[in-house]
Amino acid sequence: MAQDLFKHPDYYLVDELLSDEHKLVRDATREWVKREVSPIIEDVAQEAKFPMHILKGMAEIGAFGPFIPEKYGGPGLDYISYGIMMQELERGDSGIRSTSSVQSSLVMYPIWKFGSESQKQKYLPKLASGELMGCFGLTEPNHGSNPGGMETKFVDKGDHYLLNGAKMWISNAPFADIAVVWAKNEAGRIKGLIVERGMEGFSTPETHNKWSLRTSATGELIFQDVKVPKENLLPEADGLRGPLTCLDSARYGIAWGALGAAMDAYDTALRYAKERTQFGKPIASFQLQQKKLAEMLTEITKAQLLVWRVGTLRNEGRATAAQISMAKRNNVAMALNVVREARQVLGAMGITGEYPIMRHMMNLESVITYEGTHDIHLLITGYDITGIQAFK
Ligand SMILES: Cc1cc2nc3c(=O)[nH]c(=O)nc-3n(C[C@H](O)[C@H](O)[C@H](O)COP(=O)(O)OP(=O)(O)OC[C@H]3O[C@@H](n4cnc5c(N)ncnc54)[C@H](O)[C@@H]3O)c2cc1C
Repeated sequence: MAQDLFKHPDYYLVDELLSDEHKLVRDATREWVKREVSPIIEDVAQEAKFPMHILKGMAEIGAFGPFIPEKYGGPGLDYISYGIMMQELERGDSGIRSTSSVQSSLVMYPIWKFGSESQKQKYLPKLASGELMGCFGLTEPNHGSNPGGMETKFVDKGDHYLLNGAKMWISNAPFADIAVVWAKNEAGRIKGLIVERGMEGFSTPETHNKWSLRTSATGELIFQDVKVPKENLLPEADGLRGPLTCLDSARYGIAWGALGAAMDAYDTALRYAKERTQFGKPIASFQLQQKKLAEMLTEITKAQLLVWRVGTLRNEGRATAAQISMAKRNNVAMALNVVREARQVLGAMGITGEYPIMRHMMNLESVITYEGTHDIHLLITGYDITGIQAFK
């Protein structure tokens, strides 16, 4: 890839809404991405390999559980800091951001919110330091948008639970040490269990042949009569609200992350348009190219304000699940539109690994589907404003 010269657009001076700590987090994450991610990302994406060696650095910059309190090994940052970190990581690559999102919002968050004190002490510091990596098993072969229909179940065998079922499309599964798994008990209630690698009957085959999120490892979770110790049940999680609360946290981060990918595409296209000449002039001087760039910046600016506001509400404990849905849906669709336009500004160069745009575009095709599809988030907003469910 060409040298990483990224500068973020800030047309409405959104930086003035950030604290010094937010800017420090942003700048430190950006520097790390420029140093550790940008030089290798095109190669690892072409090879469809997760770069395991960067996990240590991710832990060092606080990308595993940024909002987890210091007493459990996290940096105890606020939600704007978490968001801005996701923006910078996804500016580098959606797959790298996904690894951080899963560890933070889908593994550490449920243990922090629904776990016992001994589970928090046992797992959170090691997850924060990257000594342990985790994954989150909700989606099943027959249940994606409708996780409430899940078939994975466990029964009480007296001194342990017996878990059976399968999950698929699970980020980080191939290398995860632990999995937070959502399954039904005998009464049909959804509960969370911490399943550890090495438990007999538990396997994590890798999913290959993805054209999207090629730098993120994806796999299945297979449970065949897995004996799960009773102390591995998350005591405070009961019903679908458990996993959905975790998804709120992850979707919030995605709304910021997608913005990062859009910023990168815009910044790349602007620089290219000023440098590339055709018909004796920079292509930036043609009205058609200016229209693309002006519209990209307008949409990015709106999305920046949206995540800043939802982040402020989340810091105050007031952001609703539906508000987060709207931000995730809007910002991912915005980012896909921006990268598609940016790709055209670069002409043929836009399809190469010399520039990050095609990789962002392919990645965002997963981001628009996972953590609730574009359609499902629309239905969440529809339900919120009418009070009428249109899911079934
Ligand atoms: C790369 C990747 C990583 C992932 N990582 C994880 C992970 O770590 N953990 C995890 O649990 N899951 C993960 N997922 C799964 C992801 O969350 C699901 O793919 C997503 O929820 C959609 O489910 P589905 O693919 O089964 O699509 P389906 O639910 O089958 O939907 C197919 C289409 O039908 C539409 N649709 C469905 N229901 C309705 C309705 N009621 N009304 C209108 N339209 C509808 C959808 O919008 C979609 O367009 C990942 C997916 C990908 C691609």
